[in-house]
Amino acid sequence: MATQSLILQPGGYKMPLLGFGTWKVDKNSTADVVYKAIEAGYRLLDCACDYGNEVQVGQGIKRAIESGLVTREELFITSKLWNTYHHKEHVPQAFARTLSDLGLEYLDLYLIHFPISLKYVPMEERYPPEWGNMEQDPVPVHETWAAMEELVLGGKVRNIGVSNFSAILLMDVLSYARVKPAVLHIEVHPYLNNADLIKFAQSQGLQVTGYSNFGPASYVELGSPSAQAAVPLFKEERIVKIAANHNKTTAQVILRWLVQNKVAVIPKSNDPARVAQNADIFDFVLSEEEMATINGMNIPFRLNDPGVYANIPIYA
Ligand code: NAD
Repeated sequence: MATQSLILQPGGYKMPLLGFGTWKVDKNSTADVVYKAIEAGYRLLDCACDYGNEVQVGQGIKRAIESGLVTREELFITSKLWNTYHHKEHVPQAFARTLSDLGLEYLDLYLIHFPISLKYVPMEERYPPEWGNMEQDPVPVHETWAAMEELVLGGKVRNIGVSNFSAILLMDVLSYARVKPAVLHIEVHPYLNNADLIKFAQSQGLQVTGYSNFGPASYVELGSPSAQAAVPLFKEERIVKIAANHNKTTAQVILRWLVQNKVAVIPKSNDPARVAQNADIFDFVLSEEEMATINGMNIPFRLNDPGVYANIPIYA
């Protein structure tokens, strides 16, 4: 599989344009699913404390390395700091737990998962802490960021970044960062193209990773009424037509549209045929007109909104 990479600043490391998402991958099958994704050619794994399966992701990685499929250096492993660990003394603790669960010596990328700080929950009480009915416990982003920088200076993580941040929050971080954020990780799909935010982040030297690339699909399975009411992107007639032009699937067209916009993708699937299909996006090119058609599908329709499910309206 001929995958491609983006160069991250400030370190100059390469981040694959294609990765594998591990949210909602069932613990019992995670090690196997991860091993098979690596076997299918994926080199980036998108993980998080909150996904509750980092131990099993680590087992899949270990098996892939021990069986000679890949070396650690060929992999790019991302994880994320959960909302209950934003105080400076909790950042190294959360990072150490993730690193040990994954069974790794270093991470390629560590992200602040959300610009939301919730009350600390000791690990022995509950891990991962999830959202629950937790109280907010505001911590300024500069405190959390300084602790993230210490992880880079300590050599345990190569790049740091932010997820679910707006342009104004990104401007704030850029105003004081000693280690600049390398990546902005946000929801991006044809119904929410986030074009202005992507343009701003790229203009500031960040690379962008888009998540929930298939829009409603991931949220239909969570029972979201707005996702259930939407036209599935896999059946959207303009995408169906473009897919037919290239003899590709609609899923492949959506992922191709993103990587052609220099946005990294991290599709998730438990089905080996779809895992392989989602990786096969580097042998065709969408025309300018096709790109414009998909760019023009923006509604905008946001699916992952803590204002809706956690009553914390970060996008208000
Ligand atoms: P996704 O957009 O990757 O879609 C997954 C859904 O699409 C599943 O229902 C799957 O069965 C289906 N699917 C996958 N490939 C298909 C194909 N070829 N044909 C038909 N159906 C297919 O959803 P996601 O899991 O929300 O996002 C991907 C990853 O992004 C996550 O696993 C996670 O790693 C990351 N993520 C990050 C955040 C964040 O806040 N930073 C939030 C959400 C997701």
